[in-house]
Amino acid sequence: MTSLVLPEFLHRVDHQRCRRCKRCVMSCGFGALQFLERVVADHAKCVGCHRCATFCPEGAITIERNPTALRYNAHWSEEHRKAIWRQAESGGMLLSAMGNDKPYPSYFDHLLLDACQVTNPSIDPLREPMELRTYLGSKPERLEFGAGPDGKPRLTVELAPQVQLETPLVFSAMSFGSISLNAQKALAMAAEKCGITMNTGEGGLHKDLYPYSRHVVIQVASGRFGVSPEYLQQGAAVEIKIGQGAKPGIGGHLPGEKVPHEISETRMVPVGTDCLSPAPHHDIYSIEDLAQLIGALKEATRYEKPVGVKIAAVHNVAAIASGIVRAGADFIFLDGFRGGTGAAPTVIRDHVGLPIELAVAAVDDRLRREGIRNRASLVVAGGIRSSADVAKAVALGADVCAIGTAALVAMGCHLCQKCYTGNCSWGIATQRSELVRRLEPDVAAERLVNLVRAWSLELKEILGALGLNAIESLRGSRERLRAVGLDQTTLDILGVKPAGR
Ligand code: SF4
Ligand code: SF4
Repeated sequence: MTSLVLPEFLHRVDHQRCRRCKRCVMSCGFGALQFLERVVADHAKCVGCHRCATFCPEGAITIERNPTALRYNAHWSEEHRKAIWRQAESGGMLLSAMGNDKPYPSYFDHLLLDACQVTNPSIDPLREPMELRTYLGSKPERLEFGAGPDGKPRLTVELAPQVQLETPLVFSAMSFGSISLNAQKALAMAAEKCGITMNTGEGGLHKDLYPYSRHVVIQVASGRFGVSPEYLQQGAAVEIKIGQGAKPGIGGHLPGEKVPHEISETRMVPVGTDCLSPAPHHDIYSIEDLAQLIGALKEATRYEKPVGVKIAAVHNVAAIASGIVRAGADFIFLDGFRGGTGAAPTVIRDHVGLPIELAVAAVDDRLRREGIRNRASLVVAGGIRSSADVAKAVALGADVCAIGTAALVAMGCHLCQKCYTGNCSWGIATQRSELVRRLEPDVAAERLVNLVRAWSLELKEILGALGLNAIESLRGSRERLRAVGLDQTTLDILGVKPAGR
């Protein structure tokens, strides 16, 4: 059947400059380039990942958006027509990867931070003591002190287990299977260096990552892949995955052809088996069931690690979060609709879920009103793009922000959204050994460390401008935010005043 969908990108080679080294042909994981006396492109296969252009030693390659336009129609957009053609050709569901890319409003871009003027701004926030350290875990109702054996004051309240984070950032869950082992290694190495954590995702923990386990959050998803007593002993914290921002209500599915020996060993399934983790956990049908699983995991880890729950931001997220805190979770991972994924039905990715800005504000507000905010930390994710987004999320109520897409971009991802094909030219979302080798863990880790360091420095600058000296003083401090161009209902949910007030 002839495809009616014209190529999205056009791959152009300046043949005067091209020295016929064929490096671009070898770079392309998607098989879009051939060498037939000169480089020839199959434009239809090009996904615009830019690997070939980045590594062309002569700078001879340009990738252009195909300018051939369809007739304008405000209702029947090009995207709608192309989707219909694709489905008419395949008869299947459209798949996509990474987060929702539709032009829903980004509330972060409508929020502005405050700054001190006459009193309190810091003179030099990068040299003055500026505390970014924070702790993940349940906090006591109040602190009580008594005299220690040496007569000095001592904390007498027993603290729940905490994970110390040197900056309010963690790497989001990305499983071995959805990304390569080299990408996971880079995340683990960077997490150790930065004093933060990475997250196994639902694919278990490869033995090569055991040395980093103090900086790893281990996930327990409905498929229970890789979950064993040994696995539970690893890791700084345990996270029960209920939902994911990119695909709320949809489980995970790693097709059997993407389960070679190493993944099968780590996930504890036979080679070539489909790894299905359905949306529901088959032992959780109520908050009481969830409480039992939280209790069981705490017991299995000797009450030495925080146990948290990851949910997608959906309608009534505040009520759900309240139930989760009451079920005994030490932290909640709230994932907004722009959260990334290795694969999701496009219709779900693009039309289900909530923006994280509204979700975190609603959850923080409800937990405070119920007097239980101290019982769980809030880890917030789903489209965090910059240190400014982190500061705004913290002011809206987050303790910590998690970055997944930003971390992948730091490693080289160009957001081509084709992770589900397993052909990632950058060696990130692939298990093809010749592609995996391209991502050197040391180099990728250095890029991640630089990103975390750069954002941390910027956070210190923001704190200095706000006249604060600790990130925890900003948490839930919505008074330090003002909104531009938002309606009153949205302002009420965010708990933020309009600019000018
Ligand atoms: S490497 Fe990427 S940009 Fe270059 S031809 Fe292949 S898919 Fe297109
Ligand atoms: S990880 Fe690779 S395949 Fe996925 S969006 Fe990024 S560049 Fe594309």
